[in-house]
Parts: sequence; structure tokens; C-alpha cells
Amino acid sequence: MLSIKNLTASINGTPVLKGIDLEIKAGEIHAIMGPNGSGKSTLGKVLAGHPSYEVTGGEVLFEGRDLFALAADERARAGIFMGFQHPIEVPGVSNSSFLRLAYNKKAEAEGRDELDPLEFDDFIHEKIKLVAMREEFLDRSLNEGFSGGEKKRNEILQMAVLEPKLAILDELDSGLDIDALRVLGDAVNRLQRPDRALLIITHFPRILETIQPDYVHVLSGGRILKSAGKELALELEDRGYDWVLAESAAGGAR
Ligand code: ADP
Ligand code: MG
Repeated sequence: MLSIKNLTASINGTPVLKGIDLEIKAGEIHAIMGPNGSGKSTLGKVLAGHPSYEVTGGEVLFEGRDLFALAADERARAGIFMGFQHPIEVPGVSNSSFLRLAYNKKAEAEGRDELDPLEFDDFIHEKIKLVAMREEFLDRSLNEGFSGGEKKRNEILQMAVLEPKLAILDELDSGLDIDALRVLGDAVNRLQRPDRALLIITHFPRILETIQPDYVHVLSGGRILKSAGKELALELEDRGYDWVLAESAAGGAR
């Protein structure tokens, strides 16, 4: 589904990604872990098409197509979704209008029927149950005044509405209490399907107890230093990241 080869990217002229290789197949769950400032969010934003980041080298294929030939909105319609670490507030745009417009644009791109406001009411009703969100959040402005946890809930609601092929979830766990973590983790698990792939970005292993990854990659200094199965997440929980960095510096990793 996603093939990343020797990807390098900069922001404001500063190189952040320094040669990323990653293959993600449909049905797989990959976790990107690593210390703060290692480039995890940058990787997600570059894949989603954030305009502030400059791709300086390498290639990314999404279902065989050159990802960087597509604008951010075209990537979204092609099935890429990003749940942000820091979702932005958009005063004056109602959450339900935003969700319906996003749904309809994607439906249009896929040749499916669009939903009118009444039909969308029924549709969204089922989706908000999945993330245990209260109805009133649909009538509020998009993320305006939402708590950190409520914003994250809203990101997963968007994922449930848009049914992406590839979902990139950046620090889903930040700002969540234990119960919300479990609810959203379970929701993401219920959304997982054989034709969908997940890229979970996190620096705490806890979310990976609920959303169990097939592969765990440690990103540091803009490079993937180590890749292994989910047991690596447990090892990181016990031992932190320093040993991976030391192993890599000694030339022992991978
Ligand atoms: P992570 O998500 O792993 O914590 P980020 O991808 O957010 O890391 O950031 C990687 C590096 O890029 C950091 O050193 C950060 O300071 C830098 N960076 C991110 N955004 C900007 C920006 N807008 N201007 C300058 N540097 C940035
Ligand atoms: Mg980040």
C-alpha cells in the first residue's frame, strides 16, 4: 500500500527526515516510536501533504502512485487520513457540517451517493457511538474549546466517517485519560480491516497495549534506527530509547 524509499525532508531549510525506508502492506499496523523531536510528526505531515515541509529526496508510492504528485486534498480523497497530534480549532465551522462535507467530497470522488443533512444525521449517529461522543459536540464549532481528549475523540470520529485506506494517527494518546485511551483504542481496532493499514505514531508504548502493532520502528534523528515486532514496544517501555541509540551508534542496529 505504501512504499517509502530514502525519503528526506526539511522544514525552513533544516533537514528533519534523513533517509526513511518503510513498506506498509494492507492490513498491517505499524508503530513509529521515538524520542521527542525525532521527526515522527514530520513523517506523518509529509505523507499527508503539509505545505510547510519540503521533500528534498526519495520517493513514496501509495498503491503504486507517486504520492508527491498529489495535492493534500487529492491524497485525502485517495484514502490517506491523518489524525493530528495537535488538531486545529476552526471557529465558525460546525463540526457536523465539516464532517458531512468531508464525507461527501470523498463519496463523490469514489462515485458513491452523497448524503443530505437528514441522511447524514442517521449515519453520524452510529459513528459517534463508536467513539462514545455526546451529540452536542456535533453542533459545536470544529474543535473550538474542545479539551485535548475531546479533540482526539473527534479525530477518530473523522477517521470513522472517512473510512481511509491508510490512517496515520499522531500521538493519539496525548491528552487522554486511561478510560478515553481504551475507548479510542477499541474504536480504532474495530475500524481496522484487511484492506486498511495503520501508522500509529507515539512515544509512549501504552496505546500499543490496546492497538497491537505488527511492526514497531524506532525513529531518532530523522532515521529509523531499529525495526522489530510488537515485543520491541514492551522493551522500550522497560528500557527507554537510549539503548537503541547507543546500539545504532555502535553500528549494531538492523
Ligand atoms: P516528533 O513528532 O518526533 O516529536 P517533529 O517531527 O515534530 O518531532 O519535529 C522534528 C524536528 O523538526 C524537531 O527538531 C523540531 O524542532 C523541528 N521542527 C518541526 N517543525 C518545525 C518548524 N516549523 N520550524 C523549524 N523546525 C521545526
Ligand atoms: Mg510529534
